[in-house]
Amino acid sequence: MASITLEGLKKTYSGDVQAVKGIDLAIEDGEFVVLVGPSGCGKSTLLRMVAGLETITDGTLKIGDRVVNNLEPAERDIAMVFQNYALYPHMTVYNNLAYGLKNRGFKKAAIEERVRKAAKMLEIEEYLSRKPRNLSGGQRQRVAMGRALVREPAAFLFDEPLSNLDAKLRVQMRVEIKQLQRRLKTTSLYVTHDQLEAMTLGDRLVVLNGGRIEQVGTPMEIYARP
Ligand code: ADP
Ligand code: ADP
Repeated sequence: MASITLEGLKKTYSGDVQAVKGIDLAIEDGEFVVLVGPSGCGKSTLLRMVAGLETITDGTLKIGDRVVNNLEPAERDIAMVFQNYALYPHMTVYNNLAYGLKNRGFKKAAIEERVRKAAKMLEIEEYLSRKPRNLSGGQRQRVAMGRALVREPAAFLFDEPLSNLDAKLRVQMRVEIKQLQRRLKTTSLYVTHDQLEAMTLGDRLVVLNGGRIEQVGTPMEIYARP
């Protein structure tokens, strides 16, 4: 795992849309930071810049000690979990988990070991031969997390991963992500508009407004009202 450091990070889209206006933030190694704020405040843009899915207009982004501004997503040693699962429908769960490792040139035995380890951790071992369409929403979400987990990345990025689930599953997955975080001490940056998710998961919350940081603090500091 590794730290993530944002120094003066900015994003201006064409048409002079200033989505992110200069963010300074140091996410410690093993820390779980949740980005919150109203729709359009720049959460998704910020996360996508860290992931390498959006170019950085200005500023410096480091993962560990390495400046990664100009690196491709695959070179950044981070894994992203999306809300739409982004699973390959024609592949089995096993191959969904294995795919990224195959592409990175891992040997078959090493792939199998990592897939088994992740599947065990997420309790999806018995579904490895199924296709995503034969899984429940929660199982699919676990496979999506498994795809990130098998890579054993330096950090995880979550883009509203639970927003497509029903209320009951959302609670269950929230607890699971928290337990996983406790066990693995994963450096994580998590975007949500769900206050309960933010409070349960975040070591620290960052409140964005209009592309700037409005407040940073523990869930208690942000949400406790006198
Ligand atoms: P959030 O995730 O907090 O809802 P976004 O990062 O999606 O916020 O959006 C921040 C601002 O940037 C909004 O004003 C949005 O309209 C604008 N924006 C997002 N993506 C693009 C884009 N591809 N081109 C132009 N403007 C964009
Ligand atoms: P395809 O759809 O490409 O035929 P399969 O799912 O049949 O893919 O399997 C391709 C390879 O993935 C197999 O050779 C095997 O090594 C591995 N594999 C698939 N499912 C499992 C599983 N449940 N347990 C262990 N290995 C598996």
